[in-house]
Amino acid sequence: MGRLETGIQAGRLSPAEYDKNFSDLHPRLDDHEALVASDRCYFCYDAPCMTACPTSIDIPLFIRQISTSNALGAAHTIFDQNILGGMCARVCPTETLCEQACVRNTAEHRPVEIGRLQRYATDIAMEKNKQFYQRAVPTGKTIAVIGAGPAGLAAAHRLAVKGHSVVIFDGREKSGGLNEYGIATYKSVDNFAQREVDYVLSIGGIEVRHGQKLGRDFNLGDLAAKYDAVFLGIGLAGVNALRTEGETLDGVGDAVDFIAGLRQAKDKADIAIGRRVVVLGGGMTAIDAAVQAKLLGAEEVTICYRRGKEHMNASEFEQDLASSKGVIIRHWLAPKKIIAKDGHVAGIEVEYTEIADGKLVGTGETGVIAADQILKAIGQSFEASGLGALAMENGRIVIDAEGRTSAHNVWAGGDCVLGGEDLTVSAVAQGRDAAESIHRLLAAAAQPAVAVA
Ligand SMILES: Cc1cc2nc3c(=O)[nH]c(=O)nc-3n(C[C@H](O)[C@H](O)[C@H](O)COP(=O)(O)OP(=O)(O)OC[C@H]3O[C@@H](n4cnc5c(N)ncnc54)[C@H](O)[C@@H]3O)c2cc1C
Ligand code: SF4
Repeated sequence: MGRLETGIQAGRLSPAEYDKNFSDLHPRLDDHEALVASDRCYFCYDAPCMTACPTSIDIPLFIRQISTSNALGAAHTIFDQNILGGMCARVCPTETLCEQACVRNTAEHRPVEIGRLQRYATDIAMEKNKQFYQRAVPTGKTIAVIGAGPAGLAAAHRLAVKGHSVVIFDGREKSGGLNEYGIATYKSVDNFAQREVDYVLSIGGIEVRHGQKLGRDFNLGDLAAKYDAVFLGIGLAGVNALRTEGETLDGVGDAVDFIAGLRQAKDKADIAIGRRVVVLGGGMTAIDAAVQAKLLGAEEVTICYRRGKEHMNASEFEQDLASSKGVIIRHWLAPKKIIAKDGHVAGIEVEYTEIADGKLVGTGETGVIAADQILKAIGQSFEASGLGALAMENGRIVIDAEGRTSAHNVWAGGDCVLGGEDLTVSAVAQGRDAAESIHRLLAAAAQPAVAVA
């Protein structure tokens, strides 16, 4: 429903405009384009692109496979390291990972298009429903995975391959975590997140129980007692508060909720958007919210970030994308007060900031930006109960190099752990590696004791 009285309104565009605006950002390469792109690779020994990939995909190998028209072989190479390689091909900030490290940058300032080649191969395999893995002989062990996001799915798949049974518990109605509820719509079109979940689960041996929330329906102690091991991949379910006057006004919302609503909408025309939208923050969420606000038909969208361009967590590519869509990015501005008119947002008072003696401080100079909608993208926070005395630091779960937590037979990975990089690909890597660690431990325990003569 539109809310005309505040300038926040649904259905600003025609159906054709919505379709165009939310179409695939980087459509899949065709066969010829993939051959041409793969031909640019030097197939480096000790390839820097591979070192820069958090899941250590053998990039030169899969690109060579594409160059010899072996797309399925390439997909197999990718999935061996990253079973969510299809989503990562769509959402990885490759410009700061593999493609930044590509040696082609040195001479040509243009890397091999690793992300798009990865998508080419994985899309072909998934469209053909090509399954590369079979479950090992059942081990009789069952592992509980909490969270069906990238970390939980990667852990569950690797455990299932090893012959273990897995039960995934997730508080939401759908699997996929932020792949389903958070990733910008134009990065993952045509219900890809759900199709990928189906592909991952088709290995078998994985049961998913939705609507099951840790801290409400069960606690960690219950699961640890019942299952052979537990993996926690619960992400960051909370959002940070602005703590600014006017935060509860009608028209002020959280960017993550806004994006989730958009991702789940059957029709984009149902999503109400302001005429003038201000997004607060400097990360990927801020960029995604701002770009999508613009694509929904907002006339003016401004990102306010309290530090400089060089401090933004959003990559240069993401910032350029936002600018190309008409989003205005303003730096060194901190929110001071949200201004109301007749109970609705009418604007935001901001204060200029600077670094003084190494600290971010307000300069005292203020201004007002007119807005009828304000989206907060100032970070997510750990929010879970039922964890007992699990060791935490800075609001995240502490793990060792193998992903083990302080609790016996409990592992964790992804956004919920200390040192997490808040990237899909890193969550996949941690879920996969924790599964290997769990398997090592269970396999060692299953070895018959060596009789000493
Ligand atoms: C708006 C937004 C856009 C992003 N865009 C990108 C991008 O373009 N590229 C990129 O690489 N990264 C992006 N990220 C980051 C990326 O999505 C995360 O790093 C990644 O999803 C982390 O995976 P995870 O499995 O740890 O957590 P999540 O994806 O958050 O999954 C956690 C799962 O646990 C469940 N859960 C949570 N609490 C409980 C509980 N108490 N009981 C039971 N289940 C629970 C949730 O329902 C969810 O399914 C984005 C993040 C956001 C917020
Ligand atoms: S660094 Fe670039 S050229 Fe070298 S293997 Fe990787 S993608 Fe190919």
